[in-house]
Amino acid sequence: MKITRILAYRVDLPLLEGSYKWSGGKSVSVFDSTVVAVETDAGITGYGEVCPLGPFYLPAYAAGARAGIVELGPHLLGEDPTQLSKLNRRMDAALQGHPYVKSAIDMACWDILGKVTGQPVCVLLGGRYGDDFGLYRAISQEAPEVMASKVSGYRAAGYRRFQLKVGGDPDTDIERIKAVSAQLQPGDRLIADANTGWLMHEALRVVKAVRDIDVYIEQPCRTYEECLTIRQHCDHPFVLDENIDSLDVLLRGHADRAMDVVNIKISKFGGLTKARQARDLCVSLGVAMTIEDSWGGDIVTAAISHLAHSTPSELLFTTTDFNSYVTVSFADGAPRRCHGRMSASTQPGLGVTPKFDVLGKALVEVR
Ligand code: MG
Repeated sequence: MKITRILAYRVDLPLLEGSYKWSGGKSVSVFDSTVVAVETDAGITGYGEVCPLGPFYLPAYAAGARAGIVELGPHLLGEDPTQLSKLNRRMDAALQGHPYVKSAIDMACWDILGKVTGQPVCVLLGGRYGDDFGLYRAISQEAPEVMASKVSGYRAAGYRRFQLKVGGDPDTDIERIKAVSAQLQPGDRLIADANTGWLMHEALRVVKAVRDIDVYIEQPCRTYEECLTIRQHCDHPFVLDENIDSLDVLLRGHADRAMDVVNIKISKFGGLTKARQARDLCVSLGVAMTIEDSWGGDIVTAAISHLAHSTPSELLFTTTDFNSYVTVSFADGAPRRCHGRMSASTQPGLGVTPKFDVLGKALVEVR
């Protein structure tokens, strides 16, 4: 089987709650997402998606995803999309770095492999664990009382994991953590995600002030070394996210005992192939995971669901359903949250069919 054509579409995803805010005053109200179609000479087409969290979160931006496909795509014509490791080596040889550019293409090729073999992607990724899995809800950065007031509604939707967006003024963040933790019920879990927003002295003040609160601390500072120092000065469960983008740093983090949980985002690693490698390494090492992506709509949510559902339940700390945060649906068959839980499709591939009336005309065509 050979790749004959690659198309990329742009789809805007407005947020249901109006905007999404996190550390350092960063905010997005409409996500610019890229849907990729990989066509083959067998008449089978696979679909993928990549959606950076704005241009100021990871080194990735929406127009860059499409420009990267213009650059990379010609090197992939004639390649076999079902030979995923080989295809990833080809992508790495043709374009250094830029993992987010490769992510949607790799995802689409997993969709093709599933369709060719008649298997859902989660089975191909190792097997389906259990009937479904639990989701977290991110709480956009607002005043402490506003964030606390959101918990009951999210819990009514079934969520039991709450990820607070902190990383702002440390005194306000302390109040945010205290106000939200007061809303928790037995079995709930609270994660305070600073998204690199604190300097070390600020992070040290926050972890000291919330010492008696049952809260996970996620990515307090910008660099790995800063985070490791904070880790060594606190006794909260600790999550690393932005710094964990390769097997090298994952192994280093494990050797340093730098984290209890890692956040694996599909496009941060460069697609399902590499995210699965990281996932499997974490399983072998006994490191729990949050499995997700930077952002996305129906197809990213489907890909997350397959990676999450093929992760041993006890090691899947949590995952997310991005397609419930936005107002636009552009694919049929995407997984939907049910009582705060989700499951991967049982259909071959990712189990999604794009709505081309929503996607419109392709902005990129490589043939
Ligand atoms: Mg995070």
